[in-house]
Amino acid sequence: MTTLLNVAAIGKAFGGNRVLESVSFSLQQGEILGLLGPNGSGKSTLLNTISGFTAIDSGTITMGEQRIDNLPTHRIIEAGIARTFQLPMMPEKMTVLEVIMAAGTRHHGLWNGLLSLSSGRRAEQEDRARAQQLLETLLLTRVKDLPAAALSGGQKKLLGIACAMMGNPSILMLDEPMAGVHPQLRQELVETLVSLSQQGISLLVIEHDMHFINTLCQRCIVLDRGKIVASCRPDELAENQQVLEAYLGQGTHRLREAV
Ligand code: ADP
Ligand code: MG
Repeated sequence: MTTLLNVAAIGKAFGGNRVLESVSFSLQQGEILGLLGPNGSGKSTLLNTISGFTAIDSGTITMGEQRIDNLPTHRIIEAGIARTFQLPMMPEKMTVLEVIMAAGTRHHGLWNGLLSLSSGRRAEQEDRARAQQLLETLLLTRVKDLPAAALSGGQKKLLGIACAMMGNPSILMLDEPMAGVHPQLRQELVETLVSLSQQGISLLVIEHDMHFINTLCQRCIVLDRGKIVASCRPDELAENQQVLEAYLGQGTHRLREAV
């Protein structure tokens, strides 16, 4: 197994609020790792630190031999880490296709276009083909000419995944990808993610949907108040005392939903 990402003893506080405390884990190539935990336990913050949206206070994050916790966000994207957001915002004046194409341009950089017009054109043709393919995979072809802001919450999530995939990342981090996605699309999304992992892409997925976690993830880590309290297979979660305790504060409804 090849370790792609290594998170070692990272800490993050917002003022006096210690949101991540000595969090350590690693992600293997082609692995689908579930990230669980009750609301406010620090899951989105953890994704923000890895993707460079939030600076860490302590610890290190490395990709292979390269330390990435001190890199700006765009360099982390270039290094091969892409992400989606829990509540995606989409522009009103761009179509779905334009949004995906813009995500592709970001990865080529301006130089490609400036140094050689022909290579710029080739890159655009390749992007267009890739965008069409992603639209199909994520069932967005029908809505490709609509304003991106007009999509449903679930479709915006799928568009977020398409944008993230335009850069051919080696690590894809998804923040609650199933929330708001139509039940009919969910199975398709599961299959899409499995096929990405079979291509060697590693996935770190925040999700509450246990069916999704059980079918998709080989391993899960569970955060409780900023600390990792469990690292186990999905079928071991329901027996794990620390996991059950983590969810107790959220009431039995949340507990059932989670395990
Ligand atoms: P989760 O995704 O597990 O629900 P979050 O990572 O969103 O949890 O939030 C964990 C804690 O960090 C919460 O107490 C939240 O208020 C706090 N937090 C997150 N982002 C910020 C921020 N930018 N500024 C201040 N506090 C934040
Ligand atoms: Mg969150």
